Amino acid sequence: MAQYDLVIIGGGPGGYNCAIRAGQLGLKTAIIENRGKLGGTCLNVGCIPSKALLHASEFYEEARKTFPAMGVNFTGLSLDLARMQAQKEEAVDGLTKGVEFLMKKNKVDYIKGVGRIAAPGRVDVALNDGGKQSLETRNICIATGSVPADLRGVDVDEERVVSSTGALALNKVPGKLVVIGGGYIGLELGSVWRRLGAEVRVVEFLDRITPTMDGEISTQFLKILKKQGMIFELGQKVTGVEKQRSKLVVSIEPSAGGAARTLDADVVLLSIGRKPYTDGLGLETIGVRTDQRGFVLTDHFKTNAPNVYAIGDCTPGPMLAHKAEEEGAAVAQIVAGKWGHVNYDVIPGVVYTNPEVAGVGKTEEELKAAGVAYKVGKFPFMANSRARTNHETDGMVKILEEEATKRVVGAHMIGVGVGEMIGEVCVAMEFGASAEDIARTCHAHPTMTEAIREAAKGVDGWIMQA
Ligand SMILES: Cc1cc2nc3c(=O)[nH]c(=O)nc-3n(C[C@H](O)[C@H](O)[C@H](O)COP(=O)(O)OP(=O)(O)OC[C@H]3O[C@@H](n4cnc5c(N)ncnc54)[C@H](O)[C@@H]3O)c2cc1C
Repeated sequence: MAQYDLVIIGGGPGGYNCAIRAGQLGLKTAIIENRGKLGGTCLNVGCIPSKALLHASEFYEEARKTFPAMGVNFTGLSLDLARMQAQKEEAVDGLTKGVEFLMKKNKVDYIKGVGRIAAPGRVDVALNDGGKQSLETRNICIATGSVPADLRGVDVDEERVVSSTGALALNKVPGKLVVIGGGYIGLELGSVWRRLGAEVRVVEFLDRITPTMDGEISTQFLKILKKQGMIFELGQKVTGVEKQRSKLVVSIEPSAGGAARTLDADVVLLSIGRKPYTDGLGLETIGVRTDQRGFVLTDHFKTNAPNVYAIGDCTPGPMLAHKAEEEGAAVAQIVAGKWGHVNYDVIPGVVYTNPEVAGVGKTEEELKAAGVAYKVGKFPFMANSRARTNHETDGMVKILEEEATKRVVGAHMIGVGVGEMIGEVCVAMEFGASAEDIARTCHAHPTMTEAIREAAKGVDGWIMQA
């Protein structure tokens, strides 16, 4: 029986980054993945395919709507959806193979199959090709991720009623798409299909979209999405989807109670969140504790079972690839006897619509609720010269500084390319920067990042460009 220092169950961004770091640190490591490809949800049916479709569909919309205003005209512009889907698959294939190469490079054993904790220090694998393998190990890392959450009355068939996985693979643009859930996955995928020609209607239980986002930014985001043609049914809950031969009939009613009504759809996307995936993992064998929703409980990545760690989407916290990656690297470090730390105050979140939305740290609502005294600086892209030159003036940057410590504790932005720009504030926050530190840093002109500098100046009341 093979003897390992670390066996990782799950080959997503949490698991594969844990494996790479463990390999680099000289630990004898194995990674078990059941889907036949590494990369998990993120590379196969999440971050990467969604961004491939967002990028391509954005070009299509820009070519139709924005280019003529800049004197670039096309005749005979058309959509080849099969090619668009194929380029998405090419991106996924290239990246998953790249991760497999990184396993080899770092001397990690990649085992294709379903892993199950059979006893302390033992993981049994039902191999995808048939047969079984048992691994003896000093440490186990659970990185089994998450799957789409379901909703009573909505039967997902991945053809007409789809989860995010099916919505990434449609081979025809639906006439009418109803999206259940106004979170980032529904809004990103809704944007893809709206750009390609679908009428997109988002039904959201709450009276706002993207509930964890800074309220002011979320309100602007909603306005912009409406301006783009997305339709919203806020404060409404879906009670069922009836599949008829020629259409789907979605029943909705006000969340607070009231008269029910129906919506017609060709495709329904169910995207109300994700749930941890630990089915058949054998947690009960060694008594690993979970919360009521099934998330594996951890203290500094350690479960209650000795030498068993858990990371990523199957644990509480934001369900984001880079959060899983951070935790994966930290666990490898700890197993190797080194530091292992994640700063949960600086985990950025990005919505890859156009314009993008990005945030890091505390929102204004969170600071108010915690009774923290803070100062705020804001700057609109309407007053930024690069944004005006590029016809990309929607949005703003907001910087939040805690009064007592003079540290930036949050930044929230909506605008073209802010998903890249947020990194600047993340670095500043990691170094404990004040708004003044950002304000006194020279930024290139003309760039969208000057809006960050101006917003930072706004914290101390000396905005110069508006
Ligand atoms: C449409 C969509 C878009 C997204 N976009 C973004 C984005 O832009 N940015 C971002 O940060 N996040 C995004 N996410 C979220 C991101 O994909 C997840 O947060 C991330 O993949 C979590 O990583 P993980 O390693 O914890 O789990 P996963 O990526 O879910 O990987 C877990 C893997 O473990 C395997 N597994 C489970 N059980 C077993 C077992 N018993 N044996 C063997 N293998 C097993 C699973 O098959 C899976 O491949 C998106 C998600 C979706 C659905």
